[in-house]
Amino acid sequence: MQVGTGVSIVNRIAIGKIRIYKTPEYKINEETVPDPIPELKRYEDARKKVQDQQQVLYERAVASAGEDSAAIFQFHADMLDDDDLNDAVKTIIVEQHRSAEYAARQGFNNVAQMFKEMDDPYFQARSADVIDVGNSVVECLLGLDTSSLQGTEPAILVAEDLAPSETVKLDKSLLLGMVTVEGSSNSHTAILARSMNLPALIQCKQVSDDWDGHMAILDGYNSCIYVDPTQDLIDSLTKKHEQELAKDALLQELKGKTNTTIDGKTIKVYANIGGPQDVGNVQANDAEGVGLFRSEFVYLNSKSDPSEEEQFQAYKRVLETLAPKLVVIRTCDIGADKTVDYMNLDKEANPALGYRAIRICLTRKDFFKRQLRALLRASVYGNLGIMFPMIISRREVREAKEILAECRRELANEGTPVADNIQIGIMVETPAAALCADDLAEEVDFFSLGTNDLTQYTCAIDRQNAKLEPFSDTHHPAVLKEIQMTIDAGHRHNCWVGICGELGADLTLTETFLRMGVDELSVNPKSVLPLRKRIRSIDLTKPVGQANVGDAE
Ligand code: PEP
Ligand code: MG
Repeated sequence: MQVGTGVSIVNRIAIGKIRIYKTPEYKINEETVPDPIPELKRYEDARKKVQDQQQVLYERAVASAGEDSAAIFQFHADMLDDDDLNDAVKTIIVEQHRSAEYAARQGFNNVAQMFKEMDDPYFQARSADVIDVGNSVVECLLGLDTSSLQGTEPAILVAEDLAPSETVKLDKSLLLGMVTVEGSSNSHTAILARSMNLPALIQCKQVSDDWDGHMAILDGYNSCIYVDPTQDLIDSLTKKHEQELAKDALLQELKGKTNTTIDGKTIKVYANIGGPQDVGNVQANDAEGVGLFRSEFVYLNSKSDPSEEEQFQAYKRVLETLAPKLVVIRTCDIGADKTVDYMNLDKEANPALGYRAIRICLTRKDFFKRQLRALLRASVYGNLGIMFPMIISRREVREAKEILAECRRELANEGTPVADNIQIGIMVETPAAALCADDLAEEVDFFSLGTNDLTQYTCAIDRQNAKLEPFSDTHHPAVLKEIQMTIDAGHRHNCWVGICGELGADLTLTETFLRMGVDELSVNPKSVLPLRKRIRSIDLTKPVGQANVGDAE
């Protein structure tokens, strides 16, 4: 077995034979020509033909990869209208008495070199585009046909480099993955690979022509390609690959569809995240929004108390990327099992019942205000919900809202814009909150049931203590009763109610939650698609326990 390593562009797996993709060597006549006039006409004809081809490639790329990825071909077409570039080629023909293909190669190479020597990585990467267009013009002048280079079998394509025009011309149904010796993560090959969601590895220096026809596994997760892999590797990575394919199929089936039961009840399915690094998973699983962004991870990942600016950048990134989807950011839930040295929290006998979450925030006002200001500043970049954790009383909600209003006033005085449609909510994760839900609902726009803590506090079972597993009942009737009470109280006061604890992803309870009237379920990104499928297979007109009429496993 041989292993090639590189930089992974798309974390997926491809299994199949390798096809070495090699542009044929061609020779350009370097002799002078007696009459440059016919060469000028040949160049002009080739330029127009390639420009038309770029237009076709543009339309094809729009259909397969979207407008953004296709824009490169418009750029190529425009490049062929560039007077400086065309004059450079024509001058070589006229002044040096050279053939059209010689002049085109020389003229485009000179411009590409100029881009390559620029400091800006964007312009450096554009050098490959100029070469790409130049090659197309030369191939057109020489009458070369590159359509057979890919072969006729599905394969992992291995090349020195793949130009955008080559990538887009490839037959996708035969393409399992791509490996190149060159290429940058900024190049259009990489951009196209991403938008096609094809596993791709660039800068793989071990590539060899001998690999042609050999069995291989391209493992994007581990940034490598195994050539002639061992049976163990084939078995384990085939399993992972099959999981990817099953997920693709589910995604295809559900994309763009609402989460509506057979009898017409629609709810939202959102994802839980821990920071900007998880946003890709929200998109990849087609979640409608974020129901719980555990902002304490921004604190836990930081060696010192994160500044307002650091927090603003993290929240802005998530909101901006997911806009206009709703993103509910929970204010810092530090304490109990989640501690950081710089907070200097005392050791406590009962940390789960101790100084944590909103209790810290309401007593360390400067600390809290830093986060609230960051959230308010970020609010204009998307659709924000702010949620307070571990609430037990109306007084706490009012105090938190008053501090938020104070931050809003400060920002207004500073001339900093803040969105005016921010939804305010609380976690219902204490029995006190569930029992006082009617009072609390008057203060907020939404509730989100934190069933992890709600179960721990209702059943007096420490969620961290593995010894208590035998006593724990995740479907405890007391907890289910509290969930129903909370939903009913919320609805009495025009407050939507979701579930963001682990129970939300328990498919054996989906029917129960729908019957209870829940408005939203927020689950880890991996559970989004199976949950959506489950919801769509339920018919609530059927008797209790028999509502699941589709195959939702
Ligand atoms: C919960 O308690 O259910 C919850 C979602 O919050 P966490 O798990 O972060 O405590
Ligand atoms: Mg909790």
